[in-house]
Amino acid sequence: MKYFIFCRDQLLLTDKGELPIGDTPPIRLEDWQKTHPLSEVEGIPCCWASIDMPISEKGFQMVGLRQSYSLLSLSDYLMAGKAYELLYWDTNTKFCGVCGAPMRFHTNISKRCTCCCKEVWPSLAIAVIVAVQRNDEILLVQSNKFRADYMGLVAGFVETGETLEDCVRREVKEETQIEIDNIRYFGNQPWPYPSGLMIGFKADYVSGELQLQRSELTKGGWFKADNLPNIPSKLSIARLLIDDFVREQKGQDLDVKGF
Ligand SMILES: [Zn+2]
Repeated sequence: MKYFIFCRDQLLLTDKGELPIGDTPPIRLEDWQKTHPLSEVEGIPCCWASIDMPISEKGFQMVGLRQSYSLLSLSDYLMAGKAYELLYWDTNTKFCGVCGAPMRFHTNISKRCTCCCKEVWPSLAIAVIVAVQRNDEILLVQSNKFRADYMGLVAGFVETGETLEDCVRREVKEETQIEIDNIRYFGNQPWPYPSGLMIGFKADYVSGELQLQRSELTKGGWFKADNLPNIPSKLSIARLLIDDFVREQKGQDLDVKGF
């Protein structure tokens, strides 16, 4: 069994930076800290559990989920994200939204109310992210939510009743006053911070002068592939979109670590 044990957003790893594997939990779990099954990674069954206090025992370390990306294999990192999303969902659905009675796990990924039998599943916040291109330049912006001085892409949450393409067009217009067209699907990525799915697009500039929405963005501009500012790390689909732009422009991969 491979153990994904979280204390809030901190994941328990061995001091070698690996996930604990064994027949029994690597640390003592109380009765109420039960393990929940996940699917398998590379043939090894996995489970998650939540603890109240970080572990400081010799042989272990607690690592933030984002930081775990640089330590774990991609499949382990994705499973850690799934475990964290389930933990977050469990924490936020202790009681039924209809009648207020306690909720209990019904399957690995669903809960049922102990009184009225209402069932709930983890909800995803769907967001779009878009690389807008104007000739040989890409539109990069800095969100006021970024934790460091780098620039990324326009992004935002899909609203109820909106198509993904409508959302891409609306977010670019709201945040930059720019009109776009030729919106193409690029790829998607689970974004477990805390429970998102990020859907990436490419689009072409049509018209408009760049005017930043100051409540959301601190910087913005058009950049050529050989003159990029600080950009995000390879953790995010934003970076995959920027790498794709650079590859198309220069015919080679970008060799910078990012933030
Ligand atoms: Zn109920």
